[in-house]
Amino acid sequence: MALKLGIVAGDDIGPEVVPEAVKVMKAAAAKTGLQLEWQELLTGVRGHEVHGHTCPQSTVDALFKLDGWVFGPHGHDAYPKNDPTWINPPLRKKYEMYANVKPVKSYPNIPSVHKDVDIVFLRETTEGMQGGGVVVAGSGEFRPNDDISIGMRVITRKGANRVARAAFEIANTRKRKIVTSVHKASVYKLCCGMFAEECRKVAEDFPDVRLEEILVDGFAMKLVMNPQRFDVVVTTNQFGDILTDEGAGLVGGLGLAPGLVMGERYAMAQATHGSAPDIAGQNIANPYAMIMSGKMLFEWLGRKHKEPKATAAAQLMDAAMDKVIAEAKHLTGDLGGKASTTEMGDAVAAAL
Ligand code: ATP
Repeated sequence: MALKLGIVAGDDIGPEVVPEAVKVMKAAAAKTGLQLEWQELLTGVRGHEVHGHTCPQSTVDALFKLDGWVFGPHGHDAYPKNDPTWINPPLRKKYEMYANVKPVKSYPNIPSVHKDVDIVFLRETTEGMQGGGVVVAGSGEFRPNDDISIGMRVITRKGANRVARAAFEIANTRKRKIVTSVHKASVYKLCCGMFAEECRKVAEDFPDVRLEEILVDGFAMKLVMNPQRFDVVVTTNQFGDILTDEGAGLVGGLGLAPGLVMGERYAMAQATHGSAPDIAGQNIANPYAMIMSGKMLFEWLGRKHKEPKATAAAQLMDAAMDKVIAEAKHLTGDLGGKASTTEMGDAVAAAL
């Protein structure tokens, strides 16, 4: 049976990089015989033009019927002032996508602060300090009088346990098999303490994987000085938000930072970068992050649906991207090349 996938282009560079990801995914699927059914869905400025809303109900309903989707970046600044939709946190909550998986990988010929980096970060995405995840209405912050502001943080055993389990499952498939749990339980004894406890509990189910714990401030320093020592890193929402951008900065920046937002039932390929309005419409955005996010979606579909053709398609995409980067003939400007977005996407599809 065909897997059902959505294409949500988003705004600004979204409609430029998302088609490149879909092009490469289709080519890889054709090679392995993976059956896919694609459906295009509107959000963002296009959603507003056609359906009167940046996150139309018809799109929300349609996504529920899919197995996963490719999700472009959204450009909030471009939205009509009467439709200030906040798309990402509510969507993650609606589809219970609780882990944002963000690999950070260096390439020998791409300029970067560090070489030989290969880390997978897992950031919890449905709780913590991000309001969209923790409250039904409002922002999770309030100001009882003009001199005091109060913010709320929610950590649950369920939330911590499931992101920790996802981290151990990924670590178990990797060579080094280390999970680093990053928290600050020495100070936040209850919230970070609960997160740390759940990581330890999950570790008992994975005897081949080693758990280490590092306090977040020390981790931030070690990540800058010696990122090669880390394998899989799991942390809470806010810490993860910051540390994953730091990670991307170590290996070449946002154009090289793919991501997968996943839960039990749904997953979406979503690059770390935003909609980059400063370079939109010029066909110069780097499609790497979006294409490799699509690759991660195939890996997830392979695991979730026990579909070896999806896993094989992901491996083909990995090898094709490695080849294009090593040859360095079809790279976009941010990687030191002269290729357009489309030319780099074409080169990856051709390398398949
Ligand atoms: P957001 O707040 O929506 O996450 P941001 O503030 O992180 O967005 P981006 O829109 O991601 O900002 O852009 C940050 C910088 O990185 C910009 O200069 C942009 O041009 C550059 N950039 C982002 N994505 C890419 C890409 N795929 N290729 C090349 N440059 C990019």
